[in-house]
Amino acid sequence: MGYPGPLGPLGADHPKGLHPETPTTDTTLDCDVVVIGSGAGGGTAAAVLAAQGLEVVVLEKGGYFDDADFTGTELTGLTTLYASGPSATAEGQMSLLEAQCLGGGTVVNYSTSFRTPDRIRHEWAATGATEFLSDDYDRAMDAVWSRQGVNGDYSQPSHRDQIMERGLTAFGWHIGSLDRNVIGCDAGAVCGRCGYGCPLGAKQSVAKTWLMDAEAAGARILTGVDVRTITTARGSAKSVEGRTASGVTVTVRARAVVVAGGSVQTPAILKRSGFTNPNIGRHLRLHPATAVWAEFDEEVRPWEGAMQSRYSTERSDIGGSGYGVVYETAAANPALSVAFLSWRGAQRHLEIMRNLSHFSSVGVITRDQDSGEVKVGKDGEPTMHYTLSARDAARMHAGVDGGARILEAAMAALHIMGSARMGGSAETSAANPEGVTWEAENVVIADASTFPTSSGVNPMVTIEAIAHLNATRLAGRLT
Ligand SMILES: Cc1cc2nc3c(=O)[nH]c(=O)nc-3n(C[C@H](O)[C@H](O)[C@H](O)COP(=O)(O)OP(=O)(O)OC[C@H]3O[C@@H](n4cnc5c(N)ncnc54)[C@H](O)[C@@H]3O)c2cc1C
Repeated sequence: MGYPGPLGPLGADHPKGLHPETPTTDTTLDCDVVVIGSGAGGGTAAAVLAAQGLEVVVLEKGGYFDDADFTGTELTGLTTLYASGPSATAEGQMSLLEAQCLGGGTVVNYSTSFRTPDRIRHEWAATGATEFLSDDYDRAMDAVWSRQGVNGDYSQPSHRDQIMERGLTAFGWHIGSLDRNVIGCDAGAVCGRCGYGCPLGAKQSVAKTWLMDAEAAGARILTGVDVRTITTARGSAKSVEGRTASGVTVTVRARAVVVAGGSVQTPAILKRSGFTNPNIGRHLRLHPATAVWAEFDEEVRPWEGAMQSRYSTERSDIGGSGYGVVYETAAANPALSVAFLSWRGAQRHLEIMRNLSHFSSVGVITRDQDSGEVKVGKDGEPTMHYTLSARDAARMHAGVDGGARILEAAMAALHIMGSARMGGSAETSAANPEGVTWEAENVVIADASTFPTSSGVNPMVTIEAIAHLNATRLAGRLT
């Protein structure tokens, strides 16, 4: 099929930048702030808090992997860097991709960087999350943009993006160049494996940026620790309890807790800990994504080139609703491609895979107006309930018309948001406009679960800006 397979370890032979520990005996620590989760939100919050001189402990469930560990092998990448579950919605309509490693989603994501659009900021402020219109939020986004090294220097279009650009240009449709948080990216054969970690160290994940700052400022980072509960008394958190895979217990007593386990796990952690606000787990948004494929005479090699470098918002506001789709391509390595291809029988599947080098796809990312729910079972583990509503489905259909076949059975979600949202009151949200839970004054949420609705664009920068702002406000209260 022409696929060269894994490129092997290319990472420079230098020591890893971070020095996390995994406790081997039962451990109790004391600090000012314990941060649960080290992804886009948690990594940023840890740096902001540590910079204010606060003693910070970061607890991360996943392991630590760096440049030399990233071989581009799909099986290894999917099993070591991604969460094992839940891997689909309970209804089976959508697969879920979520990271589980030090640095979280920022290690595996495609580096596409969007500032929070103004219209989304106004929409969110109108729900009661008023901080989105503040100057402080602008400053937080500027700080994130700068520390993540976002730039437009590595956005040379891949063959896939050239094809999409051709089509968009022929119709006279909107096309834009994407900014990316990479420095030294090859935008070529290596970049196409970016979803399994960047072996060049080009991707400015939080493991390369905010967590480095946090550790340099004295933060302790523990990996392999699965946080089970936050213990509270009289509306205030006292400690956080976790355990390692080998059964070692870890207790961290702290003056405040930042919850940043991501939109799947944050509501589960809060619910396991006895939080009862009915908005915890609700309002889940997924940006349902599907792909339209086409077979070309020319060789495309869809697994190569900058992960994403072009986009179109031509149909992002269908019928004046404020909802619609964004078009982006993504590198198509065989395993991930299978998840986005419809099944038309064994023979056709064989033909497609054999000729994959001649296929190109356009991703259709739907801004969902309606929502699902994260429920937590008796075992304390989350299940994701989400069925595409009729109006969101209609917009997705509109997004993929123009002659393309809709692959409804092949939807997936990479942007998981909104399951513990910020807002103006406990009736409508799980936390106040600074991310403080309505039930415990020293428990602050700082991840994608805080989104009042779906962001409509790739969410990383928005998550980090929220974490930056919420952590700055928490630091102000603690110092
Ligand atoms: C394949 C892929 C590509 C993407 N591409 C882009 C892109 O190009 N641009 C963009 O803007 N967005 C992209 N995203 C989305 C973006 O990366 C995520 O939305 C973002 O990382 C979510 O941030 P978060 O802080 O909410 O959670 P995460 O970054 O997922 O971090 C949560 C962390 O908490 C840890 N954790 C969870 N539960 C526990 C627990 N109980 N105890 C301890 N630790 C725990 C997890 O292991 C994880 O490391 C992509 C996502 C994926 C999966």
